[in-house]
Amino acid sequence: MSLEEYSKKRKFNKTTEPKGKTTLKGEFRFVIHKHQASHLHWDFRLELPENADGSGFWVLKSWAVPKEPPAEGGVKRLAVGVEDHPVDYISFEGEIPEGQYGAGIVKIWDSGSFNLKNRTENEIEFELLGKKLKGNYALVHTKMGGNPKNWLFFKKSS
Ligand code: MN
Repeated sequence: MSLEEYSKKRKFNKTTEPKGKTTLKGEFRFVIHKHQASHLHWDFRLELPENADGSGFWVLKSWAVPKEPPAEGGVKRLAVGVEDHPVDYISFEGEIPEGQYGAGIVKIWDSGSFNLKNRTENEIEFELLGKKLKGNYALVHTKMGGNPKNWLFFKKSS
């Protein structure tokens, strides 16, 4: 099941991150966590069914973005696919203790809803209605450098 990898990586008696339940309903929200871990990164999360065809439980599809997500067009950011997170994680902020997976401070950098425009296995297009990020964005599964986790995240210039 989709949250297996998420659960396997965490000790819920040591971290305040939500244990999370699977859910069959969702709301097309997004969050971007600024995560000061061993390397600063932004975790971009879209609330979606786990599978591209719309089947499965609702989760937060998640990507780690090593540089600040772009508010303007013309900048493409590497986005590395990571494990699905539970929908409950959307409001999480806190400090993951030293020695635990993702140790460091997690803060919400932006959040809001989105309109899903198109979704396939290798491309997701959506309109973000956030405070910092607004407008049409895309995630494209480029598998750059032969890494199947590599996507590109960018704002569409149109
Ligand atoms: Mn992270």
